[in-house]
Amino acid sequence: MQAIQHSLGYDEFGNNPDLLTRADKRNLDRGRIARVSGDATCPACGEAYRLHPPVQGALWATRGCFGLVKL
Ligand SMILES: [Zn+2]
Repeated sequence: MQAIQHSLGYDEFGNNPDLLTRADKRNLDRGRIARVSGDATCPACGEAYRLHPPVQGALWATRGCFGLVKL
């Protein structure tokens, strides 16, 4: 997995700013990311947050239905 990430231009922390959307970059720069448990339920879809996808360009972040979260 790590080798794949490096081949896609990610650093060891899972960051590749060039792949971030403008909106995601703005939210991350402004610290608009909530900490949640991976087992917590997303209020929008009712599924656990750990079932949501990572953010392209910031793999340590998760895309919840209402915004970015950190598990
Ligand atoms: Zn959701």
